[in-house]
Amino acid sequence: MTQDRWTAVDQYLTATLIGADPTLDAALRASETAGLPSINVTPGQGKLLHLLARVQQARSILEVGTLGGYSTIWLARALPEDGTLVTLEIDPRHAEVARANVERAGLADRVEIRQGAALDILPVLAEQGYGPFDLVFIDADKPSNADYFRWALRFSRPGTVIIVDNTVRGGAVADAASTDPAVQGVRRLHELIAAEPGVTATAVQTVGSKGYDGFTLAVVDAKAAT
Ligand code: SAM
Repeated sequence: MTQDRWTAVDQYLTATLIGADPTLDAALRASETAGLPSINVTPGQGKLLHLLARVQQARSILEVGTLGGYSTIWLARALPEDGTLVTLEIDPRHAEVARANVERAGLADRVEIRQGAALDILPVLAEQGYGPFDLVFIDADKPSNADYFRWALRFSRPGTVIIVDNTVRGGAVADAASTDPAVQGVRRLHELIAAEPGVTATAVQTVGSKGYDGFTLAVVDAKAAT
């Protein structure tokens, strides 16, 4: 199987099961026009996030890594009218594009975009009484994955779902000797999860238009001590 085949299958599945979405398409166009990197989740992955939030009946969501707000819109669409999503983004330009995209999607009333380094903002959110969140989506700088997961646990309740994107990294995650800080970040994340008795998790390898990668999905069983 080749990248061309994975892309063709992604296009087929997206066309058949998801279809055109003028709002999300406009968000991607605006991100591209503003020069943002095309590192958002695919439509299929975005819809998976949306469905997981719906299955979870999420009313409060935390996202780490906004980019232009593409995954933000998928997730926020799963919220009830009085639901809330807080998303953290270090790059002011990304945050600005995301604000405009979220506004255009009609979701500004339930989405709060906080600009700054996530590890600086997370303690502020704790001080301000945010949480617990029903669902946390981690998709920012990969070396900090374990730190973000620890924060996700602090913001959790039994039943909170935590999803971490890009945790297979073209298969490099299996290479213990990798010198790639992102690979080591993902490995530290998995070691942390494995050592955390209050969490049940799995990871799934994926292929598609954005290559070979995967995601890790965890559910908090009991309020973790981390
Ligand atoms: N979740 C987005 C989507 O699918 O549409 C994609 C997020 S992109 C993979 C990662 C984002 O995390 C980038 O916009 C990057 O600027 C941001 N980021 C990187 N380091 C960060 C940090 N320390 N704190 C907050 N955001 C960060």
